[in-house]
Amino acid sequence: MMETTIQPVTESANERVAINGDLEFVEKLLGSGAADLKYCYQCSTCTVVCPITPDESPFPRKEMIRAQFGLKEKLVSSLDAWLCIHCNDCSTHCPRSARPGDVMNVIRSMSIVHFARPAFLAAAAQTPSRIWMLFLIPMIIIAAVILALPGGSAFGFLSGTIVFSKMMPVPAIDVVFIPAIAFAIVTALLSITGFLRSLAVEYPRTESGESLPAAIMGTLLDVLSHRKFLECTTDKSRAGAHALVMYGFIGLVVTTTLVGILYYMNQFGMDAQLSPYDFFHPVKVLGNVSGTLVFLGCSVLLARRMASDKSGKATAFDWTFIWALFMTVITGFASQVFRVSDLAIPAYGIYYVHLVLVFFLLAYMPYTKMGHILFRVVAMVYARWSGRAAVRPVIRDGQVKYNVRAES
Ligand code: SF4
Ligand code: SF4
Repeated sequence: MMETTIQPVTESANERVAINGDLEFVEKLLGSGAADLKYCYQCSTCTVVCPITPDESPFPRKEMIRAQFGLKEKLVSSLDAWLCIHCNDCSTHCPRSARPGDVMNVIRSMSIVHFARPAFLAAAAQTPSRIWMLFLIPMIIIAAVILALPGGSAFGFLSGTIVFSKMMPVPAIDVVFIPAIAFAIVTALLSITGFLRSLAVEYPRTESGESLPAAIMGTLLDVLSHRKFLECTTDKSRAGAHALVMYGFIGLVVTTTLVGILYYMNQFGMDAQLSPYDFFHPVKVLGNVSGTLVFLGCSVLLARRMASDKSGKATAFDWTFIWALFMTVITGFASQVFRVSDLAIPAYGIYYVHLVLVFFLLAYMPYTKMGHILFRVVAMVYARWSGRAAVRPVIRDGQVKYNVRAES
């Protein structure tokens, strides 16, 4: 770590302050999608136009200063980086094209790596040259389980009617996925505990903080309504696409849970149907509708990212998650199409790829953009509880606006 000594702008111009800047961290920021950071000349336009920043100690200009000086600890522990919704209003108005919205996005991914346990998995999830290792692990585990099952090594499941549970019965799925989910929960708790400890030091609770139940309820309403996204003026279509992905994903989780519940109800002698379900079975309908929502949302997000830089520069971290989610849905639908077309090899082959992708999304949740959901929700609750995010609805131009600064 190198030390940088700067002359601060203070009332006492002779005062000198030593700042321990981590230049290695600055290099990482520049190489991870925040290369335009160096053009910032601290005019503060970004902070003025940000639709959601609080009055006190607003963002993102201060994060730009901290990033230029390499104040790693301040940045990775930043609550504000997680309150930013990457709307890119600030990047649109920045006179130097320093892209502060993208810098905030890179700070978030570095925060995930900083708090993740074990850190090497998080680093692998964010390094394009190493990410294949994370796919190799489920490829080997799932193939080994299939081959270990009776008839698996002889590929006996290929003959007769196509039923995916012949290749991977529900108990075998549980053997693979329950430990994967348990691993994700434990590592997520370790990451979030470290993050919360840091927040408690950097942002002590103030008198204006809400009670914990009120903070949780308020955050839940914010997330479900996507209210903050609708404050964005640069790229409003993102709110709709994001909502489609979120609700579709929730629907897929509910579908998978219902399939498991019905299976075990059946095993305990209750009258519950086993998969495959017919096309109009409620569980099938829920799964297909949810998959379609995710497909549509991901398509819009991917198209926007490829066609326009309004949505910001995507890092490998962003691309990996959105493609993994998109391909999970595509392989889910494709395996159904090949099943009803009675094409056994493509149906089972694509179903195997689907399982590998689901494992990737679930097991590595704390290290990928999925961890983002966790960190952001925790940060939103903390901000309300600590008094950092005082929400003051104001009627302006006939519309309800939130967190509008008093002087503006
Ligand atoms: S990021 Fe752009 S708008 Fe913000 S302070 Fe720097 S130069 Fe000004
Ligand atoms: S991206 Fe949007 S929310 Fe984030 S700092 Fe910029 S203007 Fe504010």
